[in-house]
Amino acid sequence: MTGSMFELPVRDDLVGVTAYGAPQLEVQVRLNVNENPYPPTAELADAIAESVRTAALGLNRYPDRDALDLRASLAGYLGAESGVSVDPAHVWAANGSNEVMHHLFLAFGGPGRLALTFGPTYSMYPEYARDTFTEFAVYPRNDAFEIDVARALPIIAERRAAMVIVTSPNNPTGTALPQPDLIALATAALAAGSMLIVDEAYAEFRREGTPSALELLGRFPNLVVSRTMSKAFGLAGARLGYAVAADFAVVDTLKVVRLPYHLSAVTQAVASTALRYADVLQAQVAVLRSERDALATWLAGSGFTVVESDANFIMFGIFDDRAGVWQRLLDRGVLIRQPEPEGWLRVSIGTPDENDRFRRALLEATASSD
Ligand SMILES: *Cc1c(COP(=O)(O)O)cnc(C)c1O
Repeated sequence: MTGSMFELPVRDDLVGVTAYGAPQLEVQVRLNVNENPYPPTAELADAIAESVRTAALGLNRYPDRDALDLRASLAGYLGAESGVSVDPAHVWAANGSNEVMHHLFLAFGGPGRLALTFGPTYSMYPEYARDTFTEFAVYPRNDAFEIDVARALPIIAERRAAMVIVTSPNNPTGTALPQPDLIALATAALAAGSMLIVDEAYAEFRREGTPSALELLGRFPNLVVSRTMSKAFGLAGARLGYAVAADFAVVDTLKVVRLPYHLSAVTQAVASTALRYADVLQAQVAVLRSERDALATWLAGSGFTVVESDANFIMFGIFDDRAGVWQRLLDRGVLIRQPEPEGWLRVSIGTPDENDRFRRALLEATASSD
């Protein structure tokens, strides 16, 4: 079946493009894609199995298209987590926040429309733009990887993008956006007729005193805040992302562009069950946050430059030969990430034991060889 002479009529802009993806290598310490290192507890696994069994008995039917139970549970969780009361009708859920974002691009992007963001940032946004024929522009963050609001405001005013995307805490830098800056950006986006999409994939890891954009939903009708169960909930394998829109008309529009019955009954059951265990999972998040702060202190004390992080990973450097350091870590069974900004490495926070192994491996990997 190979070697046919038929030339596939692939979309012109996709010819020669290869699929993106971080390596999924079988190594002992995997700290490269910001996963939660703690698997679900046996108790949660049992509860999930039970809920999936119940769902299985109805799998001859299509799932609840509007995922009403799940969206109510998500709204309840957000209320408890952030102190903001969220109406389930304003919540959207999909297969990972990647799909939520894809839906937003389908609804608000498109030919002749612009999405803009501030980089270095999440490497998947350009792909959603490409898939939806949306023009995409990345404006640079400052040397501390913050969004320089004084420079961003005129850009937002002039470009009049359909979508302004800000990631907070940002990936790969860990940088969170201070609330006054977020308010300034939202105000400018509103005046420019732009949606402001805040990607809060790492919100639960933010440090004490760092607010969530959820607090601004009542003030900015153009605001959408996106979250995920992939990181804090340790449920990356289940694929459940969600968003809250200030204007519930956003949810109505997303219903237009989603595929029919996009969220399976199994996924809905798994996510709803995990939400009932939010308290247990929050305790793990607390451990990860303190491990993060300890690792940041250790890295700085060991002579590395560390970007302050509100997420479950740390970007550090600065290396002349980061590829060499990365490889020597891998040789020692520790897989981390070479993020977009040259000279830096990014490590996800693992269990205390994994973090120790990373520390030892890093010292060896950066020791001078003579
Ligand atoms: C990990 C991550 C996500 C999560 O994607 P899912 O599809 O929910 O797994 C979203 N945004 C950013 C910035 C991320 O780093």
